[in-house]
Amino acid sequence: MNATTGGVAAVVVAAGRGVRAGGATPKQYRIVRGAPVIRHALSLFIDHPQVTFVQPVIHRDDAATFAEATAGLRLRGAAFGGATRQISVRAGLEALAAEQPRIVLVHDAARPFASPALISRAIAAGAGGAAIPGLGLTDTIKQVDAEGRVVDTLDRGWLRAVQTPQAFLYDGLLAAHRRAAEAGRDDFTDDAALAEWAGMAVTIFAGEAGNMKLTTDEDFVRIAAVDWAALADVRTATGYDVHSFVEGDHVWLGGVRIPHPQALSGHSDADAALHALVDAILGALADGDIGAHFPPTDPQWRGARSEKFLAFAVDRVRQRGGRIAHLDITIVCEAPRIGPHRDAMRARIAEIAGIAIDRVAVKATTNEKLGFIGRREGIAAMATATIRLPAEGP
Ligand code: MG
Repeated sequence: MNATTGGVAAVVVAAGRGVRAGGATPKQYRIVRGAPVIRHALSLFIDHPQVTFVQPVIHRDDAATFAEATAGLRLRGAAFGGATRQISVRAGLEALAAEQPRIVLVHDAARPFASPALISRAIAAGAGGAAIPGLGLTDTIKQVDAEGRVVDTLDRGWLRAVQTPQAFLYDGLLAAHRRAAEAGRDDFTDDAALAEWAGMAVTIFAGEAGNMKLTTDEDFVRIAAVDWAALADVRTATGYDVHSFVEGDHVWLGGVRIPHPQALSGHSDADAALHALVDAILGALADGDIGAHFPPTDPQWRGARSEKFLAFAVDRVRQRGGRIAHLDITIVCEAPRIGPHRDAMRARIAEIAGIAIDRVAVKATTNEKLGFIGRREGIAAMATATIRLPAEGP
């Protein structure tokens, strides 16, 4: 047997077609928590201090998708998988033959949420030869026959639901894979089953409930719902702004340029609607106001597009791990007419805020010819922002 160079390798298997999740994109390339599933899964190992080599195994047809999904990651070139998971894992193991790692972890790309602690446990347990993460069962498990009739109730105390990463001494697992291939077997659904067949003793270490496998469309919907529910600190705040009319030929309102026989006076583009909106978002964050972040005395904001201010406020929400749930603006003026521009404003604001257009409302009213607004001396805008931040605990 060759001397091993030591180190820990991770084979991340992503060669399946993921048909169960539906849609044109294989599930391992779908976006979850802001990145493709496979990018999360690979990053788990790239970022783990004990892992030296990360070997992806992909479907030949996915090469371009894979390159895009993993741009910028420090990775070995992908190996191409085969018709079964077992063949794909072997391709990953063979691709590491020159490196001869001491321990190899085999992980399904469809499990993007394993923790660094789980990977550490896998490495420690893998030194014993073959070890897999498992969880006890809480559901009662029935054995059925071909007609769906229950034939037995299994004692769940002796059962474990197993996960990946599964951990092995590299030489042992590679030898077992080669033997299985020679024996004409290519149908083992996990490496532990192959190791058992090869006569290796396989032990269990503690898995993680959060290390779930994303298999169906429902799984993706559930993750999104869980993430949304975790943003349980729901906050609402208002903003208000006024700008006066001066000579000109257009106004900026809600991020849209509207031809008008007057302009609005201000240090920036004087978009009162966006200014009110920015103050509403900053208010929900309890993070000052637009004047504090963009002082009118600062020459760099002269003539600035107010979209910059909105993008800034949106980014402050993101930095807090939050999301914008809803934005609502009321513009008060005798003219220009807002209705024809309403949907353009909503679309622009939604784009800057990174949310769906049905989370942005723009409304308008006149002031019934009363007061400064009624005299067409200026425009007022009010806004309400509802944001969700991560719950801070009890
Ligand atoms: Mg203003």
